[in-house]
Amino acid sequence: MHHFHYRGEDLYCEEVPISALADEVGTPFYLYSHATLTRHFRVFDEAFQEVPHLICFAVKANANLAILRLFATMGGGADVVSGGELFRALHAGIPPERIVFAGVGKHREEMREALKADILMFNAESSQELRLLNQVAGEMGTVARVAVRVNPDVDPKTHPYISTGLKKTKFGIDISIALEEYQLAQTLSHIAIVGVHTHIGSQITDVSPFVDSLTRIAELIHELRTRGIDIRYLDVGGGLGIPYGDETPPHPTEMARAVIPILKDLGCTILFEPGRVIVGNAGILVTRVLYTKRTPTKDFVIVDAGMNDLIRPSLYGSYHAIQPVRRQEGRQRLTVDVVGPICESGDFLAKDREIAMVEPGELLAVMSAGAYGFTMASNYNARPRAAEVLVKGDRHFLIRARERYEDLIRGEVVPDDL
Ligand SMILES: *Cc1c(COP(=O)(O)O)cnc(C)c1O
Repeated sequence: MHHFHYRGEDLYCEEVPISALADEVGTPFYLYSHATLTRHFRVFDEAFQEVPHLICFAVKANANLAILRLFATMGGGADVVSGGELFRALHAGIPPERIVFAGVGKHREEMREALKADILMFNAESSQELRLLNQVAGEMGTVARVAVRVNPDVDPKTHPYISTGLKKTKFGIDISIALEEYQLAQTLSHIAIVGVHTHIGSQITDVSPFVDSLTRIAELIHELRTRGIDIRYLDVGGGLGIPYGDETPPHPTEMARAVIPILKDLGCTILFEPGRVIVGNAGILVTRVLYTKRTPTKDFVIVDAGMNDLIRPSLYGSYHAIQPVRRQEGRQRLTVDVVGPICESGDFLAKDREIAMVEPGELLAVMSAGAYGFTMASNYNARPRAAEVLVKGDRHFLIRARERYEDLIRGEVVPDDL
């Protein structure tokens, strides 16, 4: 469900025609629907109302301050994976007691920042990290609340780059040695164990990996308790998929029905870290056609958004639906590659895609681009990053200005003796 739909022949976001926004802010730009964002957050929240819980939105999916603020006003927290994301979350007004900090490579300075902010907990991923965190907390005369990220060795059956819960990944601590890790953590005087964390991957389209993993984690929690280690929080991570094309991921209520029986008698507050499922279909990338190019073997539509704006197709071979912002009856359908201006053959938004013919100057909407879209954007080819716009009803807000050339060189210094 989302609020991008045609009225007559024109694609709208809620009550606003997208072509009018393109005239105002230029292209390419990311466009988010307030009604869709709030609906997705609320649906997820309500699905799990039977268990005490907190939704810590995964900031890496979409880190715009306005969007983080929106979730904060709805009672949400944040899952951050760097000092920069912590800075953003705090800046957006997310209360520190609703922030969790994951990631395999936290450095000392980031630990200090998070301890200073007094976040809810660290999701620790190795024994060396636990020892360093203990040391840093000790230097600061404080205690770090910790969940150990446990890797349940469950195959989420998704793209290998976004599978994180298998033995062979860099993430978490293997469940077979998790007990030892917890016992080590218990000996560290500036560490307070409060939880268990797990996150098995992203764009998961079936409930069974969640059920398998949480069954194993629930057993671990019982074992920890018999050893006198009290667990108050179970952080189940994120990973629920969305329909980009014809996949049919479980609805949050379906996921809830499958996992609540495992969660409800654990006596834990359940933390969720959804990213994609909240924002993915709430955002699109709007781009303008620059040229069409026919070659003997292939037809290309060259647009003004590239892999620097949306890297998912190039990085994971991801599918994003592409729709015209203005539909035209009776247009010929063609199979084309929709490509960007970047000097790389891997720069494409769609390959061998059948679309209605478009002319230079027309607008296309790259759908389901709200998650891992702008956050993965770069300045490759010295391209300023796109603007971001939020629509709420019949109003719209520029929530991030398009970068200017000056932004591209900020911080660079040419030494005098060159
Ligand atoms: C990426 C990530 C998430 C969010 O994943 P989605 O698939 O977007 O829901 C949650 N938790 C952790 C630890 C992550 O790394």
